[in-house]
Amino acid sequence: MSVKINENCIGCGACESICEAVFSVDGVAKVNESAVAANMDEVKEAAEACPVGAIEVE
Ligand code: SF4
Repeated sequence: MSVKINENCIGCGACESICEAVFSVDGVAKVNESAVAANMDEVKEAAEACPVGAIEVE
């Protein structure tokens, strides 16, 4: 499973507030890949909550 942030990110912080283990936002969101596997439910929730569809889960 891989999680990427695409160029649509507006740095709103929603993903970080849902799952701060995986997402950190400083201008744009960044992904802590090592935490993804243990937090897949929250990652999917964040991807659905992102207002601009910037979180790509593959
Ligand atoms: S929720 Fe989406 S737009 Fe907001 S910081 Fe996260 S990736 Fe970027």
